[in-house]
Amino acid sequence: MDLDGIGMTSRRTRDRLVNRLRDQGIRSDPVLGAIQNVPRHLFLEEALSHRAYEDTALPIGFNQTLSQPYIVARMTEALLAAGHLKKVLEIGTGSGYQTLILSELVDRVYSVERIAALQDRARKLLRKLSVRNVQYHLSDGGYGWSMMGPFDGIIVTAAPEKVPEDLLSQLSPRGGRLVIPVGDSKHQELLLIVREGGSYRRERLEPVRFVPLLNGTVR
Ligand code: SAH
Repeated sequence: MDLDGIGMTSRRTRDRLVNRLRDQGIRSDPVLGAIQNVPRHLFLEEALSHRAYEDTALPIGFNQTLSQPYIVARMTEALLAAGHLKKVLEIGTGSGYQTLILSELVDRVYSVERIAALQDRARKLLRKLSVRNVQYHLSDGGYGWSMMGPFDGIIVTAAPEKVPEDLLSQLSPRGGRLVIPVGDSKHQELLLIVREGGSYRRERLEPVRFVPLLNGTVR
């Protein structure tokens, strides 16, 4: 694979994307830096790669979408807002784009996907990009990944109708942070939930539109 791809051109388009995200209120320099570094076009099929740096969601097959850069930035910023995180669980590997962004910002990423073909593609691409701090798991992410928990952070990129109990219980009791879209196909909201011991503080971030969190796995 030609990792330089569109080379300088794509670096300049990425600069423009980062400026747009700044205008939209993203403030975290580490997050903006990661978006600047990551070649988003590699996560799309060739026919779509010229649209990689538009601030829009794009199809990745299997009725799934690569999230809009603004949403990736907003979620990552909310996850990291209280400082550095060591262990982060991601539900919905999809293309692996959000996974790669996370891998640059936290110590270890545990990424769960329910569709084997998407997981394989993401795993291969991240291996080619020499990413070594990600572990993958084919499973229904609604149950989290209890063997690897508790997690300092959990980020979910598909929307359940209500927050899964297993994700709450796998948050670190010392400030574990969960960023998750919740709702149905008509109304969804992005939530930040912070755990302190047995209490869970909820903050509504903004209205969003994600594909639904589905049950079971597809092999
Ligand atoms: N973060 C991804 C976005 C993918 S879209 C990216 O950057 O490309 C949502 C993803 O969540 C899809 O890949 C979908 O298959 C996955 N998903 C949906 N329900 C799931 C579940 N219960 N467990 C794990 N993954 C799930």
